[in-house]
Amino acid sequence: MRKRLRLGIMGGTFDPVHYGHLVAAEEALVQFNLDRVVFMPTGEPARKTHRVVSSAEHRYLMTVIATASNPDFAVSRMEVDRPGVTYTVDTMCELRSIHGPQAELFFITGADAILDILTWKDSDRLADVCTLIAATRPGYDLARFDQQPGAEGLRVEMMEVPALAISSTDIRGRVADRRPVRYLLPEAVAMYAHKNRLYGRET
Ligand code: NAP
Repeated sequence: MRKRLRLGIMGGTFDPVHYGHLVAAEEALVQFNLDRVVFMPTGEPARKTHRVVSSAEHRYLMTVIATASNPDFAVSRMEVDRPGVTYTVDTMCELRSIHGPQAELFFITGADAILDILTWKDSDRLADVCTLIAATRPGYDLARFDQQPGAEGLRVEMMEVPALAISSTDIRGRVADRRPVRYLLPEAVAMYAHKNRLYGRET
């Protein structure tokens, strides 16, 4: 009998991708016995009206650079190529139709993003097609999620990842303030961001 595919989808804006994301993906791969983790940079993020986000193509390319050396990681253009605002439910339903009913799909993202999930488009349908994995830093108040009315029907697994003390927001601020970012993200990603002037004050 063929083994059921266990596919992790690592959703994020990845502006930029950093070691916290990579460690979280590796942790999910092992903890949930996944066959591979596909990074899924958002095209036009649903909730980013308060700041300018780097272009989807830049974020996609930085994610490709960061994951290139790991045979268990891949990057998808699905959301980058889909016109309009990105909704996770559309992505997971498309993946469900590609991989069939037997595949086990896991959507991995930050716990803060998952805390808002009840306000996402068709969150109940999303829960039907996949298991959610919420990546947190240690010490995060996990009870915050369970206390939400309506959260009972969702399958959410929590995963603590110490490296998630690293954050994209902090990295962007550091670049703008000319503070060091070495060891927070792959050097080639930092070079790419520098070459394309993604986070300097001039942008
Ligand atoms: P966000 O609000 O920018 O991030 C919230 C927190 O989660 C931040 O601390 C962020 O840290 C962290 N985070 C984000 N992605 C992560 C990942 N893959 N692993 C670990 N931590 C992560 O969230 P976002 O990046 O815009 O969205 C996250 C995912 O949720 C995306 O796939 C997005 O499409 C989806 N989403 C869907 C809807 C919808 O369908 N309506 C609405 C909102 C979000 P960093 O900044 O360091 O990454």
